[in-house]
Amino acid sequence: MRLIGAAERGMQLTVERALKRRAFGKLIAQHGSFLSDIAKCRIELEKTRLLVLEAADQLDHLGNKKARGTIAMAKVAAPNMALKVLDMAMQVHGAAGLSGDTVLAHLWATSRTLRIADGPDEVHLGTIAKLELRRAKL
Ligand SMILES: Cc1cc2nc3c(=O)[nH]c(=O)nc-3n(C[C@H](O)[C@H](O)[C@H](O)COP(=O)(O)OP(=O)(O)OC[C@H]3O[C@@H](n4cnc5c(N)ncnc54)[C@H](O)[C@@H]3O)c2cc1C
Repeated sequence: MRLIGAAERGMQLTVERALKRRAFGKLIAQHGSFLSDIAKCRIELEKTRLLVLEAADQLDHLGNKKARGTIAMAKVAAPNMALKVLDMAMQVHGAAGLSGDTVLAHLWATSRTLRIADGPDEVHLGTIAKLELRRAKL
């Protein structure tokens, strides 16, 4: 859930910067590649938000054992999505995005840490795959 918030903050800063900063004679927000990138980030963010919501709902109603596949999916999807969104935000901010002048580099490093600290991606992917294979055997 925190990663959804971090990504939202990244989107907000991206849009603010794109509507303010001019590059090659026009606002960043008027460049076609920017429009396509921000749209794709919003799609990824909303997909992940629903997955996190589903994991939370399953935890509440089914318990952690039955919810473990969806939890594992959220644990892989959320940091990877946040990294993508924050990476774009850093790119749009140029050199400032790499500095301590914005919160972006900090949020990126925190998101990257979770791909290990919350269990490596590979371990969660193994859980998802095991459940998938088990389901196919039934
Ligand atoms: C900031 C931080 C906070 C942490 N907080 C906690 C905590 O609160 N509770 C807790 O229990 N632990 C915590 N950890 C430990 C964290 O869970 C472990 O670092 C993590 O499980 C990876 O173990 P490892 O560091 O020994 O790396 P290794 O086990 O050596 O793994 C290194 C890499 O090997 C690969 N790998 C590992 N296992 C598999 C596998 N099964 N299949 C395929 N590839 C694999 C992955 O690429 C992985 O990144 C924290 C770690 C950090 C950095």
